[in-house]
Amino acid sequence: MSHALSNTITQLVYLVAAGLFVFSLRWLNRPKTARRGVFAGVAGMGLAIFGTLLHPEIVGYTPIVIAAIVGIAVGVPLSRVPLTAVPQRTAISHAFGGLAVGLVGTAKYMLWLEEGTLNTFRTSVISAEVILGFLTFTGSLMAAGKLQEVIPTRPITYPGQNVVNLGLLGVALAAAIALTLDPTRSFLFPLIILISLSFGVMLILPIGGADMPTVIALLNSYAGLAAVMMGFAMENKLLITAGALDGASGLILAIIMCRAMNRSFTNVLFGAFGQVQAAAAVGEVKPVKSATSHDAADYLQNASRVVVVPGYGMAVAQAQHRVREIYDELTKRGIDVKFAIHPVAGRMPGHMNVLLAEAEIPYDALIEMEEINPEMPQTDVTLVVGANDVVNPAARSDRGSPIFGMPIIDADKSRLVLAIKRTMNPGFAGIDNALYTGDNTLMVFGDAKAVLGDIAGALRAEGKAAA
Ligand code: NAP
Repeated sequence: MSHALSNTITQLVYLVAAGLFVFSLRWLNRPKTARRGVFAGVAGMGLAIFGTLLHPEIVGYTPIVIAAIVGIAVGVPLSRVPLTAVPQRTAISHAFGGLAVGLVGTAKYMLWLEEGTLNTFRTSVISAEVILGFLTFTGSLMAAGKLQEVIPTRPITYPGQNVVNLGLLGVALAAAIALTLDPTRSFLFPLIILISLSFGVMLILPIGGADMPTVIALLNSYAGLAAVMMGFAMENKLLITAGALDGASGLILAIIMCRAMNRSFTNVLFGAFGQVQAAAAVGEVKPVKSATSHDAADYLQNASRVVVVPGYGMAVAQAQHRVREIYDELTKRGIDVKFAIHPVAGRMPGHMNVLLAEAEIPYDALIEMEEINPEMPQTDVTLVVGANDVVNPAARSDRGSPIFGMPIIDADKSRLVLAIKRTMNPGFAGIDNALYTGDNTLMVFGDAKAVLGDIAGALRAEGKAAA
């Protein structure tokens, strides 16, 4: 095939791939079309790789095949992690994306330095690419470590931290400018890499585990911007387009999540949120009232309106199918059952939607937080399944609480709350929850799957006895 022809085919394939990426993001917006969105994204990426392999400059395929085999060998087991570990898995993908971008930038710099073809434009985009790539690498590794709890999840802070961090970034930018002004000052290049690697670590250290999802979305955005820079350096239009889509969508997701938690970006990045709260003053300790699964089944079947609030515990226990059984039993009796979906319930955006969709609970029974909250005072029974922070009333009333201001599902406003969890231990933010000692709350202690299984069994037995 002539160079001109393969170039034309590559550009056409890139155009189709870019279109597929845009549609993929669009379809990923709704649970109903999300599957199609995933297929479109995969097809787009497949086409992008095919188009690149046709590129006339490619002289040898052996290293590409070896790299692809290694990538597949690492990628396939990585894709098999449980759903609860997807946030850290995503962070690891960003880390390797950032590393790849940083290494390509370094290779290009060395090649062009040797050829004497470095100009101001090339050096400036390579510098930006390398800074963003390497800081995304270490920052994402730190985020994955915090989520996996191999690194302490609490914020690690020291006086003057923000000044040190901003100073580091300032030095990296100054070195990049000095290099751009004279690309032969090659001693600056390893300095830029080193500072960027350290900056990634220092940036994440003071951020608490509770903010990691937002940080991962932000790091996704940095990885996208790094790819844009790489696209400029390599004159590859598809990389620029895909990187811009990635950068923008990561930023939009981070903004949505900040809003869901009523936080600002600066507060996430510099607020040291997630610090373990100082022990509350010794005062009145309210008693905890508990109920059995059979009591819970009775309360549920005597209700007219039931709201289920799923949380991280439902995901850990894999209790979504038991939830479905209870949904079936209650709706059979003409009881109105809705699911209250908090945007940051679980450990990743859309976590509850995915699990409930897996159990084939109808989409229209899933109600967003803002829509369900006005209905909570008219709700007879709220069944909290392994949710904690997202139903903690301290977010509304306790100015001293680390989650103050975060919008919550107003479970405490319903007539009766049945809360399923194993112990009185706190959730992700590490703080007590007054909902569990509320006057209208009954705790049903145990693993969510086992407890819900017992409740569903009791409902079935009652149903048969009544028939
Ligand atoms: P949560 O506050 O982490 O609470 C989960 C509760 O589930 C725990 O209190 C735990 O209590 C219970 N639990 C654990 N295993 C269980 C089991 N097998 N059976 C029954 N209960 C079980 O969860 P959440 O209310 O969903 O709130 C999410 C939190 O995670 C928020 O702070 C959010 O900011 C943060 N976060 C969100 C995302 C996201 O994007 N969605 C990502 C990362 C972090 P026991 O130990 O007593 O059972």
